[in-house]
Amino acid sequence: MKSFSYTRADDVATVVNEIGVDNAAKFIAGGTNLIDLMKENVARPSRLIDITRLPLNKIENTEDGGLQIGALVTNAETAYNGQVEKRYPLLSKAILAGASPQLRNMATTGGNLLQRTRCYYFYDTATPCNKREPGTGCPAIDGFNRIHAILGTSEHCIATHPSDMCIALAALKAVVRVTGNNGDRTIPFAEFHRLPGDTPHIDTNLQADEIITAVDLPAKGFAKNYTYLKLRDRTSYAFALVSVAVALEMDGDQIKQARLALGGVAHKPWRNTEAEAMLLGKSANQENFQACTEAIVRDAKGFGHNTFKIELVKRAIVRALKQAAEMEQ
Ligand code: SF4
Repeated sequence: MKSFSYTRADDVATVVNEIGVDNAAKFIAGGTNLIDLMKENVARPSRLIDITRLPLNKIENTEDGGLQIGALVTNAETAYNGQVEKRYPLLSKAILAGASPQLRNMATTGGNLLQRTRCYYFYDTATPCNKREPGTGCPAIDGFNRIHAILGTSEHCIATHPSDMCIALAALKAVVRVTGNNGDRTIPFAEFHRLPGDTPHIDTNLQADEIITAVDLPAKGFAKNYTYLKLRDRTSYAFALVSVAVALEMDGDQIKQARLALGGVAHKPWRNTEAEAMLLGKSANQENFQACTEAIVRDAKGFGHNTFKIELVKRAIVRALKQAAEMEQ
């Protein structure tokens, strides 16, 4: 591990200033991904700025009837918060499907959004990797790619986004609040994470001098008809091969509104609004669910070891839609 300095910050304006003048510095809160990356020599910050004392650790109601989750609220605090459990159970369920209790006690909202891919080659500094060192190549494309992406890939990277929480946030259409040297701004969740394209080393649209301050949940929480289905190699403490967050609004057997977000299949939480629209006004049945899955995988591409995911995600979507539709109506 490379030597680094450590400082602790007390206010947001100071940390924004500090990160703006030192591109090699990094924020640390729970550290559940960053410390691993540092131990493997993948992340080599010159300096760690400890942000755990910033006043970003509250869950509060918003004026428009939604809920704001501070960037430093831990994943466990969010999952077990009474308001989240009652109004946004999809989010609770997704968080509790991820990591372990110990990790969820440390990991924060902001850190969850910024965690890096778990591509094996990315963590192995003995191999090339366009995400770790741009221009060196992507050994996963012709290598062992069982966990890799089937949607939105590029010739430069086929890594997947690892979070469970973010898949639920994508389905709920959350908004990310950030602040930087140019002031505050909000980023719709669908625009926060990026596809790899020819810049796979850039995971998000957060600027170098910006910090996440909170995530806002809209008023509509889809608390009646929802599910988070996660398929993985073992039943706990494993990343998703495929995951599906579903949020439905039902009118009897008819679908009035449908949101679907997928994990384990792309470089970002994957939504296909065209496929979601296909479900509107339709009956909740196998035939309509299957038609929706065909639209979602139309442009899917397997790379050998991960080709099974194309069929797996179709089946997972149908099962998840069925589970969500059959809840309280
Ligand atoms: Fe690196 Fe992406 Fe290729 Fe993995 S898939 S080796 S992260 S470039």
